[in-house]
Amino acid sequence: MAKLLTVNLGSGAVAPEELKPEWSDLGGRGLSASIVAERVDPNADALGPENVLVVAAGILAGTAVPNGGRLSIGAKSPLTGGIKEANAGGVCARKLANLGYRALVMEGLAAEPSVMVLNASGATIKPAGDLWGLGTYATIDKLRAEYGDAAGIICCGPAGEMLYANSAVITTTPDFLPRSASRGGVGAVMGSKKLKAIVIDDTGSRLVEVANNAALKSAVTVLTNGIRTDQIMHYLKDSGTGMLVTLADSMECLATKNFSQGRFDGNYEISGEKMAWLAKQGRPGMEMKHHCMPGCVVYCSTIFSDANGNYVTSGFEYETLGLLGSNCMISDLETLAKIDHLCDDIGIDTIETGGAVAVAMEAGILPWGDAEGAYKLINGMVEGTEHGKLIGQGTLVTGKALGVKRIPVFKGQCISAWEPRVLKGTGVTYCTSPQGADHTDGNALPGMSYDASSPEGQADMSKDLQRYFAAIDTLGMCLFPALAINPKVMLKKKLIEAAGAILGKKYGPDYLDELGARVLAVEVDFNRRAGFTREDDRLPAFFVEEPVDPSGKVFDVPVEDIDSVFA
Ligand code: SF4
Repeated sequence: MAKLLTVNLGSGAVAPEELKPEWSDLGGRGLSASIVAERVDPNADALGPENVLVVAAGILAGTAVPNGGRLSIGAKSPLTGGIKEANAGGVCARKLANLGYRALVMEGLAAEPSVMVLNASGATIKPAGDLWGLGTYATIDKLRAEYGDAAGIICCGPAGEMLYANSAVITTTPDFLPRSASRGGVGAVMGSKKLKAIVIDDTGSRLVEVANNAALKSAVTVLTNGIRTDQIMHYLKDSGTGMLVTLADSMECLATKNFSQGRFDGNYEISGEKMAWLAKQGRPGMEMKHHCMPGCVVYCSTIFSDANGNYVTSGFEYETLGLLGSNCMISDLETLAKIDHLCDDIGIDTIETGGAVAVAMEAGILPWGDAEGAYKLINGMVEGTEHGKLIGQGTLVTGKALGVKRIPVFKGQCISAWEPRVLKGTGVTYCTSPQGADHTDGNALPGMSYDASSPEGQADMSKDLQRYFAAIDTLGMCLFPALAINPKVMLKKKLIEAAGAILGKKYGPDYLDELGARVLAVEVDFNRRAGFTREDDRLPAFFVEEPVDPSGKVFDVPVEDIDSVFA
């Protein structure tokens, strides 16, 4: 059976154990939530020794299920004060599973900067003073040089070391590029523990257990074909998630000018289509069909180079383009790419950072659309400038300190680049998700028989999606193929069969719904014990009172509907 490895960074004690029977069918977000709920006092200081940092692989990790290798990072959040799981692609979930572990739990605080090395011989904690203060790119380079190409790396950047609430945990792709588990300040939890990095090398170890290989193989064949042939996955492959910029603009729900507009004149300039055009023009080094993890069959990731072919950034995604682009009225793609590189290098969440920069623009700290000014403002985090320090503490702190009334946060976390007055089911998810505002928890996009902008039926839509994506995050599957699977009964059936084949169980058609509900119940209960009430499930007033341009819509889902999601 897969194991749990608890490492006490204060004492150096390392304790492998079998997963408890009640956790044996959990991975990723569900396992992380269960560990945090059991081991962390909900009222504990998120940056103190009582908090834990969970690193969890999903149920699918290390198997042949396509896109099944997301890595979950969990903790009590220093940004929201509630429970948090942020996930990313990369190689580490697969390596963890190959070593026979479903999760690592980092407890206590190290006395000095440290790196934990995990391989088939066990776990070792080593001093890492030479890494402290380095950006994530340099950290990854140094650790790769020391531990070789078989290593997967998880690290925090200077932002995490400086305990900024917008800081992320960075992990590596097969080609050692950074991917970010961004949300909720999980990088600050890692930094507070003086844990600069975790290195995972699975050489010689293939301990992933599959109870029924034949059943898994049959399910995987159908899933792989179903995802590969999905039209939206083709669009993602061609233009990356940046193609969502023009789509959201056409639906009048692209976060623009601190959520005062749903359309942005410069949308094409910061879109995936523009990146694809640059690649087609022969810009050297541009790559549109990159994959962030082994087993991906979608290839939505991008590598962005400058006009001379020099690498600038990778994983240059919709949310970054929306929050730091349209939401700040920035249409300069080249500088946006440099900002994305900076954010990855110092290890911060581009959503939270983009939200903070936009409220700073609204306060008049810098002009709308000032890309170079935004770069300098963000870089001020590591230089310790007055405004840089504010940005690092997130959108809410920045907005309050600068006297801005329109602050787009829920439970202390900035919303993503989807306008909730137009996408009202997404708005309900922002309100009610125990993770704080998060599009990955249930983004309700318009469909054939679903009106996203009606005030009716949104609570049920949000509830269904929140359960589905909580289950997907527990399985460790990437969000994008999960979008292809959700509406297709046969693919959903095969995903359920795949999970059953791995765990040796026979699950019914409601498995994903039940799994998601179980995970959400743990998270909601943690937040309740941390002091969250119904009042924390309300939108900032401006979404209710101020029509968004040009649709003229306000958020008008009845409060009793919102409260019915977790009744
Ligand atoms: S679809 Fe995109 S985000 Fe998902 S695993 Fe593939 S490259 Fe990574």
